[in-house]
Amino acid sequence: MLIVMKSDATEAQVKAVLRVIEELGYRGHPMPGASRTAIGITGNPGAVDPSHFENLPGVSEAVRVSKPYKLVTLDLRSEKTVVQVGDATIGGEELAIIAGPCAIETRDQAFVVAEAVWRSGAKFFRGGAFKPRTSPYAFQGLGEDGLKILEDIRETYGLKIVTEALDEAGVDLVERYADVIQIGARSMQNFTLLRRVGKSRLPVLLKRGLSATLDEWLLAAEYIMAEGNYQIVLCERGIRTFAQHTRNTLDLSAVPAVRRISHLPVIVDPSHGTGKNYMVTPLARAGVAVGSDGLIIEVHAQPDHALCDGAQALTLEQYQQLVNEVRAIHEVIAPAPVS
Ligand code: PEP
Ligand code: MN
Repeated sequence: MLIVMKSDATEAQVKAVLRVIEELGYRGHPMPGASRTAIGITGNPGAVDPSHFENLPGVSEAVRVSKPYKLVTLDLRSEKTVVQVGDATIGGEELAIIAGPCAIETRDQAFVVAEAVWRSGAKFFRGGAFKPRTSPYAFQGLGEDGLKILEDIRETYGLKIVTEALDEAGVDLVERYADVIQIGARSMQNFTLLRRVGKSRLPVLLKRGLSATLDEWLLAAEYIMAEGNYQIVLCERGIRTFAQHTRNTLDLSAVPAVRRISHLPVIVDPSHGTGKNYMVTPLARAGVAVGSDGLIIEVHAQPDHALCDGAQALTLEQYQQLVNEVRAIHEVIAPAPVS
């Protein structure tokens, strides 16, 4: 059920509706929009009787939701969500660029890349302290020591930190040191983890699972929103197909597909989406051209020596070239308003 308030409904009227929802034992999710507020209802085991709401002051209509998702949908919020991270945004007018190494390996390695990311004008730095590796014998990340390096990078350059949490204990730590919690492709359906980040005050970067359908991905976002965290960025990072010429198949059609259903911002990861250095820039260009709100790019000063995902890492020079190119494309796709 979705309660659509009248355009002139007062805050007190919205609160009164939320009270009724609570009294019924459900949870209300108010989403203020440019013209009106809508309130999503979750926690109801079956259909909600619209007569509870229809005659309340300020209510325009009570609409049954037949789709599997209630909160990620444009029905609830027709304007795009702009995720605000300090003075940076994802989903707004600017193209969000998140760049950095796959893993934080050493302080020097991370700082050299951070300097280049800062110089490029990007606002977000990425780097894993907890790595979800296929092999238990591969480098697993520096853990909290890696987070401390990330915190120092934030302090030095003012970059916003995006880093992955693999489990609930990891979320506690990431919340202490970072600005955006990344949920990796392998964790997209770790439902206890999704619920935990749903309770976080930090925005969540939710990667698409390796074999996730659009519905499964959006329902993963729904898990987070249902707990009250509405600051979510979806990230298309490639899916498993029969193709052998790439690590994954970057499904760029996911960008307009998400746009048609959801108000959440969506970004593209051409690094994991291709797994190959020479394909990252072409697919980054394509991602921006198709309407992505941003890019997440792996960068390493010495890709040959990277402890993780070196084959897809851009050098510092290649990265700067990519930024120049995608900015030019973004300018054509979404020209800055004349002020
Ligand atoms: C990463 O960003 O380094 C990563 C592990 O990504 P994914 O979860 O998409 O594989
Ligand atoms: Mn990686």
